Amino acid sequence: MKRPSVRDDLKSMEGYHSPQVEVDVRLNTNEAPFPPPPEFERAFLEEVKKVDWNRYPDRLAWALREDLAELHQVEPDQVFVANGSNEVLQTICLTFGGQGRTALTFEPTYAMYGQIARVTQCRVAEAQRDETFRVPLDGLEKAIEVEKPDLMFLCSPNNPTGTPESSEVIETALKLVPGVVVVDEAYGQFADFTALDMLGSQDTSDSLIVTRTFSKTWSMAGVRLGYCVASPWMFDEFQKVVLPYHLDSVKQIAGRVALRFQEQMEQRVAYISDQRRRVSEGMARLGLEVWPSQANFVLFRTTLCGLPGNEVWKRMIDRSVLVRNCSGWPGLTDCLRVTLGTEQENTIFLEALEEALQ
Ligand SMILES: *Cc1c(COP(=O)(O)O)cnc(C)c1O
Repeated sequence: MKRPSVRDDLKSMEGYHSPQVEVDVRLNTNEAPFPPPPEFERAFLEEVKKVDWNRYPDRLAWALREDLAELHQVEPDQVFVANGSNEVLQTICLTFGGQGRTALTFEPTYAMYGQIARVTQCRVAEAQRDETFRVPLDGLEKAIEVEKPDLMFLCSPNNPTGTPESSEVIETALKLVPGVVVVDEAYGQFADFTALDMLGSQDTSDSLIVTRTFSKTWSMAGVRLGYCVASPWMFDEFQKVVLPYHLDSVKQIAGRVALRFQEQMEQRVAYISDQRRRVSEGMARLGLEVWPSQANFVLFRTTLCGLPGNEVWKRMIDRSVLVRNCSGWPGLTDCLRVTLGTEQENTIFLEALEEALQ
């Protein structure tokens, strides 16, 4: 059989993977532990009956963008929607990245920034966070001066560390970065800070892009819907690189109906935040190093308990609990990340962890 050769730059790349193991308690991908409320499902099914199946969807997804604009008190032409915030990130990379350009990240952070940028043949420069996993101001200024990035990715709260970004860091980036500054707020509603407040507040906000997703707080990872809020001029540029009719009619409906249940979403966020307190305290009591999180997951390190992270991860699987194994990632030696589940799942997690550490 003939196997035509792929692009040279793809040969050394690996795809994104997150091991899925058959277990009772899955706390590895930061999904919500609950589906949207039953009223959502009923309302959604009613709306779906109205779809013109033989027609293309509204290419501009105007109604959904109007609803999102109302939610964030901005204009609809400031909102761009796509198939998950990963497609938003890809669209940003296709627009501002590409050959001969540079994307700047602060490690450790969400691996998809580098991955997607590289797929667009963009060079990726990796700067480092400090030991508390914050972006240090001096390191930020230095990296921008050296790399002159065409795009820069911040993640607030940061995955996998749970650390929120400070307005000082974002303001400095907006002032100094020649390109766009992307603030990924996939977990924004869990945190007490949002860069959405900085949109339109100053001239430099012309280069600010804030991304959000329905995958986590809206309990809709299965739908693949995300968006960003930015300056209106960017929307026309995004439209050039995105496929026509990329956002199907059913998804546009799902997003609009979901927004009717904001209160329930906020209740779920409050529930998870309570669990975060409880689980973080429980892990600290076991003698683990635990980083304060403002997201729906907590990063912890097993070194102080005298066991390698990889060994604890395996022992957890033996107890049918799956967490994310970050122990081999640069800067995260012996670190694991647990997604907060239901109260019952978290109890099982804490009990399994106590046993695994013995
Ligand atoms: C989960 C996650 C996303 C979500 O991606 P979707 O494509 O919207 O599911 C984006 N950014 C970060 C940092 C995430 O952790």
